[in-house]
Amino acid sequence: MVATLYIDGRWREASDGRVHEVHSPHDQSVVATVSQATQADVLNAIAAARKSFDSGLFTSWSFKARGELVAKIADLLERDGDVIARKESDDTGKRFIEAQYDVADVISTFRHFAALGAKEHGRSVDVGIAHVSSRIVHEPLGVASLIGPWNYPLLQIAWKVAPALVAGCSFIVKPSELTPQSAIALMKIIEEAGTPKGVANLILGPGSVVGTSLINDPRIDLVSFTGGLTTGQTIMKAAATTIKKLALELGGKNPHIIFADADIDAAIDNAVTAAFLHSGQVCSAGTRLIVERSVHDRVVKEIVRRAGKISLGGPDDKAAETGPLISQAHLKSVTAYVEKAVAEGARLLVGGKRSDKPEHAQGWYYLPTVLDNCHTKMYCVQEESFGPVMTVEVFDSEAQAIAIGNDTVFGLSGGVWSSDADKAARVASALRHGTIWVNDFGPYRPAAEWGGYKQSGIGRELGEHGLSEYLEIKHIWTNNAPSRSGWFKDQ
Ligand code: NDP
Repeated sequence: MVATLYIDGRWREASDGRVHEVHSPHDQSVVATVSQATQADVLNAIAAARKSFDSGLFTSWSFKARGELVAKIADLLERDGDVIARKESDDTGKRFIEAQYDVADVISTFRHFAALGAKEHGRSVDVGIAHVSSRIVHEPLGVASLIGPWNYPLLQIAWKVAPALVAGCSFIVKPSELTPQSAIALMKIIEEAGTPKGVANLILGPGSVVGTSLINDPRIDLVSFTGGLTTGQTIMKAAATTIKKLALELGGKNPHIIFADADIDAAIDNAVTAAFLHSGQVCSAGTRLIVERSVHDRVVKEIVRRAGKISLGGPDDKAAETGPLISQAHLKSVTAYVEKAVAEGARLLVGGKRSDKPEHAQGWYYLPTVLDNCHTKMYCVQEESFGPVMTVEVFDSEAQAIAIGNDTVFGLSGGVWSSDADKAARVASALRHGTIWVNDFGPYRPAAEWGGYKQSGIGRELGEHGLSEYLEIKHIWTNNAPSRSGWFKDQ
C-alpha cells in the first residue's frame, strides 16, 4: 500500500489506488513509488483546508504560538536532515552534499519565519480624533495552494510553507511529480510538530492534471507558485475568474556584467559557478555573460577552459562537481536550445552535447556549454535554457552594459563586477532585476526579500515581505464616543 497523500490529518492512498514511480536522473533507477492523486483527492484536500481555516482553530493561535510551531519544525528538520537530503538527492540527481546544503537553507528559512512570529504585528494609526482608536491588524489570508518546482524542491516549498504557517493560513502543497519525496518528509514533520489537522495537506501528481483545481477552485484564496513563465501565465489567467491573490516566482535570464577594471580572476571563477552550479538548473543562474570588449578574449578563454574541466557525476560521486539534468525531456529541450542558438549564429566554444562517458550513459548528463558571439535579439539570449548553457555578449560602455542587461522580459537577478564602487553602484541601481550582486554572484539570505521584476514574477518571498504575502490587512476604526454623522438633513 502506498499512502503518501496527506489530507485532513491522515495519510491516504490515491482514491483509485494509482501510484507513480520516481526515477533517478542519474541512472533511471526507481527511487520511490508514491501515490498519484485523483481529482477527487484534490477536492478533498481543498475541502479539508477550507474547513480547517473556517473553523478558526489555527487562526486563533497567536503569531507567537504559530512561530513556536515553525521553530519546532526547524528542530525536527535538523534531526532528520541527512535522511531528507538523501531523498532530495535521489529525486533530483544532485550530489548528496548539495542536498545537505539545501536542507541547511530550509532550516534557516523555518528559523527566520519562526522569529518573525515573535515580532509585533499590526500598528495603531493616529487619525487625529481623540475618541477614535484606529488599528491596522494582520490576519491570515485564507486557504493557499503552494506549488513548487523540481530544481530545489524542498527549499522552494519551504519558502511558502513556513510563512503560511506563521500567518495562520491553511494550505495544500503540490511539489513537482518529478521530486515528491522531500515534501512527503516535510509533511510528516509538520504533522509530528502538532499542526492541527486539515491545516497542511499534500497532493501529488502532474501539475497539468492535479494543478487545475488548485488554481481554479473558488475555495482557494491564494496561489503561491514557483515555476516556469508559461505555467505562471496559465495560473494568472485561471486565477482571474475568482480574483485570487497571486505570488509568482518565475524564470530568469540573468545578466552577469564584467567590467575591464574588475578583479578578473574572481569574476571568472564566479561566472563559472553562476552558470554551471546545479548544471544551470537555477532560476537565478548567471547564464548571460556580458563582458567589456577589452577583456572579452581573456575572460572567455579562461571560462571555456574551466567549463571543459567540470566533472559530472551522480549523488555519491565524490569527484563530481555537478550532476545531471532532471529528465530526458529536459535534456532534449536543452539540446534543441543549443542547436537553435548555433543556427542563429552563436559560436559554440565548449560542450554543446550530452556527456558520452560510459558512466553517464543511463543519466541525463549535458556538458557545460559556452556560446560566444551572442546578441540581445537571439532566442538563446532572451529565453531561459534552465541548463548549463552560458551565452556571451560584449559591451563598450557603461550605458551599453546597462541597456543590454535590461533588454529582457525577465528581471530576477543580475551581477556586476567592477573595482570602481561608484560605477558598480550606478549599474546596480539601473538594472531592473529583483536581486543584484556587486562583485559576487548567487548568495541569498532568508532575511532578505527574493523575487522578480517584470515577467520574473509578482510579489516577494523571504524577508518580512515573504510573510506579508500570506496576510490580509484590516483597518479597524473604533469610535469610543459615538455621535450622529449629521451628513444628511434629518427631516
Ligand atoms: P513548471 O512551471 O513546469 O512546474 C512548476 C510546478 O507547477 C510543478 O509542480 C508542476 O507540476 C506544476 N504545474 C505544471 N503545470 C501546472 C498547471 N497547469 N497548473 C498547476 N500547476 C502546474 O516549472 P519547472 O518545475 O519546470 O521549474 C523550472 C522553472 O521554475 C524555471 O523556469 C525556473 O526559472 C523557475 N524557478 C523559479 C524560481 C524563482 O525563485 N523565481 C526558483 C526555481 C525555479 P509537475 O512538475 O508535477 O507537472
